[in-house]
Amino acid sequence: MNHCEPRVVAGVEVIPICDAVGPLGGPLRRPVEEIFRNARPEDWAGLPTTEWILHFHVHLLRAHGRLVLVDTGVGGLSSPAAPWAPVPGALPARLAELGVAPGDIDAVVLTHLHGDHYGGAIGEHGPAFPNARHLLQRAEADTAGEPVRAALLRPLGAGLEIVDGTAQVIPGVRVHLAPGHTPGHQIVEFGDLTITADLLHHPVQLANPAVTYRYDDDPEQAVRTRIEVLQRVRSRGGVIAPAHFAEPFVDLAGWAPRGEAVA
Ligand SMILES: [Zn+2]
Repeated sequence: MNHCEPRVVAGVEVIPICDAVGPLGGPLRRPVEEIFRNARPEDWAGLPTTEWILHFHVHLLRAHGRLVLVDTGVGGLSSPAAPWAPVPGALPARLAELGVAPGDIDAVVLTHLHGDHYGGAIGEHGPAFPNARHLLQRAEADTAGEPVRAALLRPLGAGLEIVDGTAQVIPGVRVHLAPGHTPGHQIVEFGDLTITADLLHHPVQLANPAVTYRYDDDPEQAVRTRIEVLQRVRSRGGVIAPAHFAEPFVDLAGWAPRGEAVA
């Protein structure tokens, strides 16, 4: 698929992997206008308002002889995301097609502790990427409930690396704390690219960053973080790589906010 073609940013090859596609199902299923709230009619102009179909993108980074995964997808049939996400994810098969063995991955960025992002991190026999450091923000680890501690944090053992705020993943590639969706949600930046994970979920939030998402832990903090990060990306003439849009890369130059600035 064309739109999943890799690109090179600041010397880092970025390979978007389409792990899964499907509607928000099970207990999370609702009409789209109940999921994205406070949108003005003009914010929806040109966007479909029927059922919301999510894409689940994982990004593989290759630079300096290192391989980094940003998130691990929805996981297998017994994933914590299975009640609402289209499992199993295709990540293991896609990596094999790329000639990447699980043991080749040097680092995994866990953007946050939702099952559609960490679901592929633990396999039947322990960590799915056994040689990788798994970077997680302290604020996310500290607020993790017992189920995710049991399913993910304890099994990762020494493979879990707690970071605070900003940290280097590999030379030139950094994570930054970007809270709101969850307390320790983090994004990845290098060159003019920002891998935004769940900083935003739908293009309606590019039209109006103040549109809130029903399943954000702290929707007001999420709006503040979204406005701040998107302004920074725009000022650099940058591109975002969101987890759940249909397109794995979005050039913000093509997305002027509609109407008055909303903050
Ligand atoms: Zn997500």
